[in-house]
Amino acid sequence: MSHHPFEKSGLGKAPYRCMSSGPLVAAGGHRGGTAGYEAALAAGHEPVVGGTCQHCGTALKNAIWFESADKAVFYVGVSCADKAGEATAARKARSGLRSDKKARETARIKAAISSLASDSVLIDRLSSQPHPNQWRAEKGDTLLDYLRFRMQRSGHAGMLRVCMELGL
Ligand SMILES: [Zn+2]
Repeated sequence: MSHHPFEKSGLGKAPYRCMSSGPLVAAGGHRGGTAGYEAALAAGHEPVVGGTCQHCGTALKNAIWFESADKAVFYVGVSCADKAGEATAARKARSGLRSDKKARETARIKAAISSLASDSVLIDRLSSQPHPNQWRAEKGDTLLDYLRFRMQRSGHAGMLRVCMELGL
């Protein structure tokens, strides 16, 4: 009889039910996954993200939570789940992590657009510096005009670059 790799490392009996996936949270007693991460934030805990895979010991930021047939709950890394034969759970986790990341980036971009429109300290700082294009600079355009233009004309990745350049 063949044993599931998770059984061999003592994580409970197969089959396993995928419960959630997301950042590994070690604060406030919240069980991880995106829901746990948000619960920790809502409860005022600063989530400490990170830990090690309970199957192989590799350092992780994100994990998948499983429940075994005998009701043991554990978490492993996404690629570990994939290798152990839990491909469907791994695929769902990857797509969930991608959309979480995109949502965080979109929120960051929105905040930067709002700062470029209304943060007077930032606006003063950027409008006192010349536009990087000499011709535009000679016409009186500033770094603020340049960054606002990029925010209007760029796609997601381009807008994210502006956030990084501004440290926002
Ligand atoms: Zn692992």
